[in-house]
Formats: sequence, C-alpha cells, structure tokens
Amino acid sequence: RSPGPAPGRDPAITLVDVVKDYGGARDGAAVRGVNLTIGQGEFFSLLGPSGCGKTTTLRMIAGFEEPTGGQILLHGRDVVGVPPNKRDINLVFQSYALFPHLSVADNVAFGLRRRRVPKDEVHDRVDRMLHTVELADKADRRPRQLSGGQQQRVALARALVNRPRALLLDEPLGALDLKLRQSMQLELKRIQREVGITFVYVTHDQAEALTMSDRIAVLNGGLVEQVGSPREVYERPATAFVAGFIGTSNVLSGRLATAGPDTGTLDLGDGQRVTLPLPDGATAGSPVELTVRPEKITLTATPPTGHASRVRGTVEEVVYLGTSSSYTVRTAAGAEMTVFQPNDGTATVTPGRGDTVWLSWATAHSYPLAPAP
Ligand code: ATP
Repeated sequence: RSPGPAPGRDPAITLVDVVKDYGGARDGAAVRGVNLTIGQGEFFSLLGPSGCGKTTTLRMIAGFEEPTGGQILLHGRDVVGVPPNKRDINLVFQSYALFPHLSVADNVAFGLRRRRVPKDEVHDRVDRMLHTVELADKADRRPRQLSGGQQQRVALARALVNRPRALLLDEPLGALDLKLRQSMQLELKRIQREVGITFVYVTHDQAEALTMSDRIAVLNGGLVEQVGSPREVYERPATAFVAGFIGTSNVLSGRLATAGPDTGTLDLGDGQRVTLPLPDGATAGSPVELTVRPEKITLTATPPTGHASRVRGTVEEVVYLGTSSSYTVRTAAGAEMTVFQPNDGTATVTPGRGDTVWLSWATAHSYPLAPAP
C-alpha cells in the first residue's frame, strides 16, 4: 500500500496527502488523500472505475485544478498555485483538438512557432517528431484526411515536440476501436521509451494499463488501493477491490484456525480449510480474506493429493474462450470462484454444469488481502 519511489529513478512527480473537495458533494471529496511518487521517465498509469478521481488527480498535476489540501512537487518544486503553462507539463486528451485548416506539420510546429523558436530548428524538430510517430509521409495532409489513430499521433507529436518534462494523457485512446486501440497502445509505449519523457496515463481499462505501464496506481473512491508493476497488481493484489478490478475476485474468507510461523490455516466455515502465507499481525481467530488467480487453480474430479489447499465446489458455468475455458464454481461455503483451464490437452478434467469438482493450488498462490483503506 506504500506509495514508495520507483526503484532506480529520480522522482519526477510527488503527491503528498493530496485532497480535492469540490464542495457540496454528498459523497465527500473526489480525492481523499493521495500519496504517490512517479519516477523520471516512467510510464505511470492511474487506473480505476468511473468517478474514482483519476481525472481530478491528473488535472491537479497539470494545474487546471488546485488541491484543497496537500502538496504536489514537480522535480522537487512545490507547484501548488503555479499556473499550468509554468509547469513544464503537457496534456493530451481523447479529443485531439487539432487545427483543421493547418497541415499535420503546421499543427505540430504551432507551439514552437508561438514561442519564436528559430525556423531551422522548428523544421528539424517537427521532422524528427513526425518520424518518431511514423507520420513523416503525411506531413502535408490536413487532419480530416487522417484516420483516428493517425490524428491521435499528431496530437501526441504536437505535445512532445515542446519537450515537456512530463506528459499527462487522459484516456487518449478512448475514441478508437479495439484493434486500433491495441496497436496504438504498443505504439505509445514505443514512443515513450524513445523520447524518455515521464508519462502519466489515465485509464479505466485494466488491459490497457497492464500492457503499457511501468507501474500502475489503482484508485477507488478517491484513494490509492495499490501501487505496483503490472505483474504485482495482477498477481499479488493487495485488496479485494484490486483483485476484482484487475481480474476476477476469487475471494475466500474465513477465520484463521492455526497461525504460524510462516503459514496459517484458514477455516472457510464449511468444514474445509486452506493454507496461506501468514498475513502481517494475524493470529489464530483473526478474520482473513485471500484471493487466488484463476489460472493458478487446478480442477480435478476427485480430491487431489499433495496440495495443502483444496476446496470442493459445484460447476455453475462453463465458457469456452479459445486457448482456455473458464469455469465458475460455487464452493460449499457459497464463494464464487473462477478457474481457467488451458484447452491444450493438459487439463485432467473437462466438467460440465452441475458436476462436483475440486479446486487446488499451491500455498504460495494464496494472497491474503488487506481490508479496504
Ligand atoms: P471518469 O473515468 O468517469 O472520468 P474519474 O475517475 O476521472 O472518472 P473524476 O472525473 O476525477 O473521476 O471525478 C471524481 C469525482 O469528482 C466524481 O464524483 C465527480 O462527479 C466529481 N467531480 C469531478 N469534477 C467535478 C467538478 N468540476 N465539480 C464537482 N464535482 C466534480
């Protein structure tokens, strides 16, 4: 849950106890005390459902909203009260707002010309940037002669050509269809790596955040629930919310029957027990929740041997997904668990609805969950 600095990077953007209360809202502040350290050159995503405070957080970093409380540091300087154009930051939205009557090259050159950058330098920088976004052959076109993805790349080039120290992106791919969005995700990641500028990327799409980010902050109700690499937030979700938002919840709850020294036994209340790494501070009798990822679970028709964690349940749903199948299993205690089994011939059973099955997994794949912050 700790915001922590990005390993091996200097801090570029630091948020300390940042609060934003628009006032009058029945549901309280939009941002309720966010602590984050975003590293220099990092591709950092703010991920969460609609209304969790992502855009508000981004707009405070940009300077379009002032926080009600807390500090925002850009490269060590407190910028609360500093206007957006003095922050050395650029913003890219979903709507590209390109000038329709200007060519692609003139759109990209616009900010440089306004700042009276010498003509030769403008030409050089625009040319290089159009190569980076792979639009050099479209320099003379008008925006309406380009596809949505190409227009978005022009908007990106226009923002990057000014060499901001950080670029903030608010759902920039939201208007594109799925195929184009997926190819733009890889493209954006490549461009970011090439220019080395810090990107802060707002999205509600977990697959998008996993694909592109060095690290992700998962937000819920104006608070950060977890910060980590894509692998960390997916494989080791810290809270039930993160587990459910990034994948499937797969939460089992119960009380610790035994505790220690390294593992505990969780009594699920239906006579079944599973083992898990012992959560911090938990003792026998503590209520505990755990999650286990659907692809870490093995399905069998009979009680398996050799696994400390096995749970009996009934198959409620089977969905064929191509490379794998998804099974929804109801445990005797009433928990709903999702299990992925590969369709490559290695699965030992292919049960149907109503069949009794056993779910088993290694102790290390049980992740104890922290209560909501
Ligand atoms: P979305 O993905 O839907 O854009 P979000 O996570 O970006 O959501 P925000 O736009 O930051 O969320 O909004 C957070 C909360 O603050 C919401 O409850 C929203 O209604 C409220 N809010 C946002 N902007 C304002 C405003 N200008 N005035 C009052 N309330 C606002």
